[in-house]
Amino acid sequence: MEYSQGVSACQLERHRKVDSWWHKVAAAIWPPHCVLCEGIGANGRDLCVPCEHDLPLNTASCRVCAQPLALGRAEQAICGRCLGARVLVDASFVPYRYAYPLDRLIQRLKYGKDLSVTRVLGDLFAEHWLARSESPAPQLLVPVPLGYRRYCQRGFNQARELARVIARRCGIPMRSDLVERSRETKEQAALSRRGRKRNVRGAFRMKRALPARHIAIIDDVVTTGSTVNELARVLRRAGATTIEVWAIARAGR
Ligand SMILES: [Zn+2]
Ligand SMILES: [Zn+2]
Repeated sequence: MEYSQGVSACQLERHRKVDSWWHKVAAAIWPPHCVLCEGIGANGRDLCVPCEHDLPLNTASCRVCAQPLALGRAEQAICGRCLGARVLVDASFVPYRYAYPLDRLIQRLKYGKDLSVTRVLGDLFAEHWLARSESPAPQLLVPVPLGYRRYCQRGFNQARELARVIARRCGIPMRSDLVERSRETKEQAALSRRGRKRNVRGAFRMKRALPARHIAIIDDVVTTGSTVNELARVLRRAGATTIEVWAIARAGR
């Protein structure tokens, strides 16, 4: 979907109607199968109701970085780290915690080229977001770009594939050609918090002018937030005024 100056509520509504019609047709032709237990899927998704209930929700979390907070904290709280920090990201929307059995799905998304998992996760994300979207929608979705070498190894960028599903379901344009990795970085998973920050410093650069001010960065998992923060820094320099982070799962500290 091409970027246009904002998305009206009417356009969004029309888009959602077409989308739900298409979902009904597709479900009649290819009945859904659960990606976790192989049972019969529900709600037109490749996921059954019991498995969906097993997915760990990230209900009490920091509204800036989505870090899970201790139970009993207010839903709109801010964690200690975000209170004192210079804010590059305005808000995060991450509906799940990175825990069993969602971690299994994310692994399959990353390394298994499993498109039914991409559809399920993108779809679940969109459903959560549409259910709570009282605030203005971002004008543009920007997936975290993958380095050239890793892209060649993997053959696809999981953040971009997710962004594609979310863009379609939420009726928001997506652009994956605006930012690129300016250098290869090490796998973040093996590094400490400080190491991660250093690893991604200066790792992104703009390829084209940013055509919007309110951006949502799309990633699969947010761990320390170093990667999305670094991308936010570049987007801000390019003129973004409001930056959200949208991801499927948040790994806790
Ligand atoms: Zn199941
Ligand atoms: Zn926080």
